Amino acid sequence: MRSYTLNAPAKINLYLEIISQRSDGYHELAMILQSIALADQINIHSLSAETIRVHCNHPQVPTDKSNLAYQAAELMARQFPEAFAKYGGVEITINKHIPVAAGLAGGSTNAAAVLVGIDLLWNLGLTQLELEELGATLGSDVPFCIAGGTVIATGRGEQLSPLPGLDDIYIVLAKYRSLEVSTAWAYKTYRQQFGSSYLRDNDNLAARAAAVHSGEIVKAILEKDAGQIAEKLHNDLERVVLPNYPQVLQLRELFATVEGVLGTMMSGSGPTVFALVASEQQAQTVKQQVRETIPDEDLELFVTRTITHGIQLV
Ligand code: ATP
Repeated sequence: MRSYTLNAPAKINLYLEIISQRSDGYHELAMILQSIALADQINIHSLSAETIRVHCNHPQVPTDKSNLAYQAAELMARQFPEAFAKYGGVEITINKHIPVAAGLAGGSTNAAAVLVGIDLLWNLGLTQLELEELGATLGSDVPFCIAGGTVIATGRGEQLSPLPGLDDIYIVLAKYRSLEVSTAWAYKTYRQQFGSSYLRDNDNLAARAAAVHSGEIVKAILEKDAGQIAEKLHNDLERVVLPNYPQVLQLRELFATVEGVLGTMMSGSGPTVFALVASEQQAQTVKQQVRETIPDEDLELFVTRTITHGIQLV
């Protein structure tokens, strides 16, 4: 029986701009996605029967067909029926470390790991591009999660332009365990409130995407200047999440005042807030200070760092 264990890193958004409404119902986005060391471990092994089974140690994560990892295995079985018949089914065990429903792409990175793992398990020899194309059908963040690193993502988030990797910028993450923000709610509310300012014609759209590529945060990333990157962090969804979620606003305001924090922002549609910090030692001090200010046990705090890769074999 063959088995693979894969490391599946989370991501943060260094930049998230909502450009327009697309005809397929999604939003046209310009994002900069960054892999971080905080990761789940996914074990995949063959089963003798043609079935898919998912186990997870986190009570909030479903193990049925609604699990993105399950959907990734189902997609592979549909796409490669002969391999599914030849090698049998798959058993997927998710060891969850990434907070759930946090804006950290936890489900997407699990799905990405399953695509990579089944490619190995079934000797398919798919290219990264082929895996990314399959991933795009599961969710907008899945293609990024496969190779990871530091990437400009446009379209729905599936069109990727890699940037040179950012290694070892330290990050403090803060999330209230029991607080969830629905991604669908955040985008819908944003459209209701700010839809009138969306770009409408395609020329403007191309110009906007080009502007992101030559924008100040990309320049700071190319120069590996953590201080400048931290100053240019941006997330349009803060405009709807912060006014509606006082706990997220409080974390955001607190991080901004803590010594050693270079910059702070909400990740994705939240509710995780992150702070960029220059060293591991400073990150530990920042974490401690936030903990002392908010002793609430519901608040989870993590120290992590930027990494230059996505899914990797353990
Ligand atoms: P994104 O940043 O891509 O929007 P997220 O970090 O906000 O994602 P997830 O952790 O992926 O959110 O979880 C969103 C929902 O998806 C959860 O409520 C959970 O029930 C469901 N889900 C399905 N599969 C998984 C999985 N493998 N891991 C975590 N959650 C999953």
